[in-house]
Amino acid sequence: MSAGQAWVIGNGRLVTPDEVVEDGVVVVSAGKIVYAGPARDAPGSVWDGSVELDARGGYICPGFIDGHVHGGGGADAMDASPQALARMAQAHAAHGTTALLATTMSAPHEQLLGVADAVRRAQLSGTGGARLLGLHLEGPYINPERAGAHHRAWLRPPAAAELEELYRVAGPALRTVTMAPELPGAVEAIRWLSARGITVSLGHTAASYEQAMAALDAGAQAATHLFNAMQALHHRSPGCAGAVLVDDRVRVELIADGVHVHPGVLRLAWRCKGAAGIMLVTDCMRALGCPDGEYTLGDVDVVVRQGQVRVRDNPAALAGSLLTMDQAVRVMVQAVGVSLPDAVRMASLTPAEALGLAHRLGRLAAGYEADVVVLNQDLEATITMVAGEVVFQR
Ligand SMILES: [Zn+2]
Repeated sequence: MSAGQAWVIGNGRLVTPDEVVEDGVVVVSAGKIVYAGPARDAPGSVWDGSVELDARGGYICPGFIDGHVHGGGGADAMDASPQALARMAQAHAAHGTTALLATTMSAPHEQLLGVADAVRRAQLSGTGGARLLGLHLEGPYINPERAGAHHRAWLRPPAAAELEELYRVAGPALRTVTMAPELPGAVEAIRWLSARGITVSLGHTAASYEQAMAALDAGAQAATHLFNAMQALHHRSPGCAGAVLVDDRVRVELIADGVHVHPGVLRLAWRCKGAAGIMLVTDCMRALGCPDGEYTLGDVDVVVRQGQVRVRDNPAALAGSLLTMDQAVRVMVQAVGVSLPDAVRMASLTPAEALGLAHRLGRLAAGYEADVVVLNQDLEATITMVAGEVVFQR
């Protein structure tokens, strides 16, 4: 079926940011949503020539937008090829992701330029799965004390010449840069990136509360996997976590698998930030959809066992995840007690807002891109549509 196909996704419940609409339909034509609402109010003409997709009583949601993905389907962004990026995008589409940022590990500059180039090429060729919205540079401008799974050898303070060249190669595909604001030159780099519409996300950082606040004043707008790879919240020393929890200028990423962050702390973040301030991310690595065993995350050797990923030479360190976006939504609903509309908002509209794309992504509304996921009663993705094309169905 081509993207020009007209569809009616019906027999389901429509999830909007505010409510669940019983007996809802989404009508799609030429890659765009032309109607989303109660079936009884749909104009008769929209049914003409369209193919019906049966939501089987499930939840029809805006497609999920994952701003932090390293890999999936056996492929990693650091493989630096359009084919690898397509494999990742397809693997995540099977879990409701309709758009993602390919996320790098810390690496030599030339290698990162290669990934940026691959992202540009994959954007042109298409992925057959989730949209590739661009690049999230996670490091190398991060603090060695909070390196997590990143190789310390590649970590360095931000360098203006490197950022300029990355920006030249990636162009508008450079979307997010994770940075530790306490590094020399970081505040200048935050100003430079923010002025170009690139989101600076505070992360892998030992920043104090005051240093984090100064970074927000300089233009930083996000926090990378809140609580992971930063100082724990302490009542006399709140650190970066304390700053981003209380400052409404910031949207925070959460790895909501219930392992990286305890459900009680997910609830704390939720109470502080609300659905408009939280972006669910997976931080997923290449082994999604693959058997347990030894893999790499970037150039770091890791071991995958029973759904967890750990650094081979330092098993205490988690190294990314095998989380999927539909699972993150499930955890927020089932373990944290968030409503389904709020959990879905954290997986769709909030990240769209963070990326400046909320005028065309993140909602089921007429005129929006036809990026849709259907979840069954157990909140597992059963249909994923990207730009009016069914890229996954089971
Ligand atoms: Zn990551």
